[in-house]
Amino acid sequence: MQSEAPQWESWNPVTGCTHVSDGCRHCYAERFAERWRGIAGHHYEHGFDLRLWPDRLALPLRWKKPRRVFVTSMSDLFHEAIPDDYVRRVFAVMEQANWHDFHVLTKRERRMLDLAPTLPWPPNVHMGVTIESDKYVRRADALRAVPAAVRHISAEPLLGPLERLDLTVIDFVIAGGESGPQRRPPRAEWLRDLRDRCVAANVAFAFKGWGGRTQGEGGRQLDGREWNEQPPRRARPPASASDPAADQASAQQRLW
Ligand code: SF4
Repeated sequence: MQSEAPQWESWNPVTGCTHVSDGCRHCYAERFAERWRGIAGHHYEHGFDLRLWPDRLALPLRWKKPRRVFVTSMSDLFHEAIPDDYVRRVFAVMEQANWHDFHVLTKRERRMLDLAPTLPWPPNVHMGVTIESDKYVRRADALRAVPAAVRHISAEPLLGPLERLDLTVIDFVIAGGESGPQRRPPRAEWLRDLRDRCVAANVAFAFKGWGGRTQGEGGRQLDGREWNEQPPRRARPPASASDPAADQASAQQRLW
């Protein structure tokens, strides 16, 4: 019998960010956060301004069931305004909460590289970089240089062909198109080329969808089928009973 996949969770010990490259132009996190700017008492009362939330640091330690955790879904953990020591505290929690898998994604590969020697790299931390076009394939070179157990590339939103992308020691690629009224649609040949190179290099490939005015509008099929491959999962400690209070807090965290 196949074991049930752990649920996804967002963990946001930092929120807010600033644009760093072309893929940021229609940042969903920014759109979401800015809707609440000026609403006193709201988590995003200051919109998408960068903010540290130290009281959220220990949250994963209270989630007893193994989860797949998207780290800083509303920011970039390697943003230059986040103190070095704070990034180290986030990594220390990931190391301690070894029954979860943590997925970190950055567009700031230079800072990731600078900090990497000072961070623990436990096997439950999956490190990823976003590469939206050939201009940013250097991020994959930086990713190769960090000692992460699992390395992944998010080609989303895909804004151009990734002809110069080197897939050496990359475990997983996920690609997708942009959504929203001003979306920049991907071309089928960019996706086919990426998929074919992943298949040839034995790199897991997933296609999230074409995007559209609304998310999901364009569907998820590429050449008549869905692509849902995943990197190999490591063995994990057995599940234990959840802490109901932490579960309630985490339900809130999905939004904030
Ligand atoms: S790096 Fe990510 S979170 Fe930050 S502005 Fe760009 S898309 Fe948004």
